Amino acid sequence: MRPERFDSWLTVDGKGLYCRPGGFHIDPYGGAKRAIITHGHSDHARPGHQHVLATRETLAVMQMRLGEGAPRGTQAAAYGERIVIGDVAVTLLPAGHVLGSAQVLIEWKGVRAVISGDYKRSADPTCVPYELVPCDLFITEATFALPVFQHGDARDEVAKLLRSREQFPERAHVVGVYGLGKCQRLIALLREAGYERPIYLHGALAGFCALYESFGVKLGELRAATGAKRDDMKGEIVLAPPSAIADRWSRRLPEPMTTFASGWMRVRARARQQGIELPLVISDHADWNELTATIAETGADEVWVTHGREDALLHHIQTTGRRGRALALIGREDEDQ
Ligand SMILES: [Zn+2]
Ligand SMILES: [Zn+2]
Repeated sequence: MRPERFDSWLTVDGKGLYCRPGGFHIDPYGGAKRAIITHGHSDHARPGHQHVLATRETLAVMQMRLGEGAPRGTQAAAYGERIVIGDVAVTLLPAGHVLGSAQVLIEWKGVRAVISGDYKRSADPTCVPYELVPCDLFITEATFALPVFQHGDARDEVAKLLRSREQFPERAHVVGVYGLGKCQRLIALLREAGYERPIYLHGALAGFCALYESFGVKLGELRAATGAKRDDMKGEIVLAPPSAIADRWSRRLPEPMTTFASGWMRVRARARQQGIELPLVISDHADWNELTATIAETGADEVWVTHGREDALLHHIQTTGRRGRALALIGREDEDQ
């Protein structure tokens, strides 16, 4: 195997991406013997693996989410810690996506491959910022890989939410958020903006908030939305899973203003279709500019694309003189939906 022929030692099999000289999969499905997990979202951290290497935070998320399906053997790696596995060296580095999220650097025979998992470059007070890792092969996602996706500054979106709250003091603002990452980031951004009132949570969000706090992420006063008096909820901010905001669940709230924090809210038609009154463009994924800038900054002359809108990104990769390849991994969905 020639190390610069990446497809000779990084292959895709029935369980996903596999590193042959290391004998492990990265974010596999179907239960693998040995897996490295980039982060705790359900399309990356799947049940049934025998042994998992991940950050401490990701292992804690897997333990909480998977229960019986949590890995039997685990090894925690700190960011930057170089670990030899088989014939390769593996280092986890911050991806800036959610708490504990990591890029996987694999070094073999002098060449460097980086599997970035999901990542973003913009500021997030709830996780360690993305670290640029120079490499020869860069493997990237493509969730928002269209020039139309420009996420902008999340702080402006939070300001919009706070203005709306002042404008409509009789209404509860119900914000749809993904439970792992987006929820805690939005809370932290509200706190950064000076919002000190209690923030109300749908029951499904409490567990991950407690987990974040156990790792030292401060979220301020959180209260259960269930059981709170209707009148007391006027003017309050309530966070709920996206499926609950248009549901009966939110109808118990006073004149709920439906809001959704997602990168997809850039598409106004989509927001309208979902009945979202106040769309907030806040994403934990890289937007088009972040994707293309990151690819250039890594210095990689080969780029593989895992999931999302591969076509536009591959076209960009090829026109900038790099080798590109779509991996078309199955079973990847998008937690931002
Ligand atoms: Zn993710
Ligand atoms: Zn993902």
